[in-house]
Amino acid sequence: MTFSEQIKNYQWDDVRLSIYGKTAQDVQRALNKSRLDLEDFKALVSPAAEPFLEQMAQKSQQLTLQRFGKTQQFYIPLYLSNMCSNICTYCGFSMHNAIRRKTLDTKEIEAECVAIKKMGFDHILLVTGESERKVGVEYFKQALPIIKQYFSHITIEVQPLDQHEYEELIEYGVDSVLVYQETYHPVTYAEHHLKGKKSDFKYRLDTHDRLGEAGIHKMGLGCLIGLEEWRTDCFYVAAHLNYLEKKYWQSRYTISFPRLRPCAGGMEIKSVMDDKQLVQLICAYRLFNPEVELSLSTRESEHFRNNVLPLGITTLSAGSSTQPGGYADAAEQALEQFEISDDRSPAEMAELVKAQGYEVVWKDWDHSLTGS
Ligand code: SF4
Repeated sequence: MTFSEQIKNYQWDDVRLSIYGKTAQDVQRALNKSRLDLEDFKALVSPAAEPFLEQMAQKSQQLTLQRFGKTQQFYIPLYLSNMCSNICTYCGFSMHNAIRRKTLDTKEIEAECVAIKKMGFDHILLVTGESERKVGVEYFKQALPIIKQYFSHITIEVQPLDQHEYEELIEYGVDSVLVYQETYHPVTYAEHHLKGKKSDFKYRLDTHDRLGEAGIHKMGLGCLIGLEEWRTDCFYVAAHLNYLEKKYWQSRYTISFPRLRPCAGGMEIKSVMDDKQLVQLICAYRLFNPEVELSLSTRESEHFRNNVLPLGITTLSAGSSTQPGGYADAAEQALEQFEISDDRSPAEMAELVKAQGYEVVWKDWDHSLTGS
């Protein structure tokens, strides 16, 4: 069984009604438990939990400290290409947007690696648009040996692949893979993914199963907050995580919670989540799963990132450029996927994190730790 079959146990409207039907007693019960189930998660993301935010934040902070200590992992995205064969209504890289396209060649990749390495990073996130023709497995197989010389942990956020392709990329040095479902509502998914392979909801939904079968070290999941009613969509993320952890228990997991931001060809946001609600969600994920990594990107503002950091976050991006070639050549312009909200340098971010009593971890897990 894969998650696309498992999801049939959760009907969208039933889940939504159940979340909105949760009471203060349900929230209190969840807060008193040490092992939470999906019903508890529903209570914690429900409107009924909003008056309990302080209690949730305290417990979330405590659980995060117990599991992760006073550390924050830093990573930086390296955009290899903004070529894309899909039309997604919310993205600046979408095929129908008339922007300048660029795919880094091996020399340019190396220049980016040198520029990023100088900032202190040892953990890199490789990002591309989804274009099998321009940035398929063969392209990654050329790029990875170069990148591997500079970084000890490589995460990719590229088009979903087949299991054998993931197995191949793991051989080439990929440690972690991030794939976001965007929304777990199939009809809304179809409304926002108009053309290209990404319009195949089921293939995307089963990607983490293929990753688990391939034996990936870590996988990331999440939805794009704003496409659908956020409390319900995030329930599906929690259910997906629950399913994956039980089945692929050897892998580690990380969750991101990107909120829609303005981009070229911008769109109206269906479900706006305010800052307080994002704090509620972060705490709900942490209380539901003390082991999962929670990652916050530079999409969020400086003010928000400063304040939310101790409440459950374990991983931060810093100094990000979403433009292919944007680190080695700051003059590269008008290619970006979305606007960066927190543009502080990695050194500035590191100072802030240290000032809050945290140690900055510039690299993720290392192969030597498991002897692999
Ligand atoms: S979200 Fe991804 S697949 Fe969709 S247009 Fe942007 S880069 Fe392409």
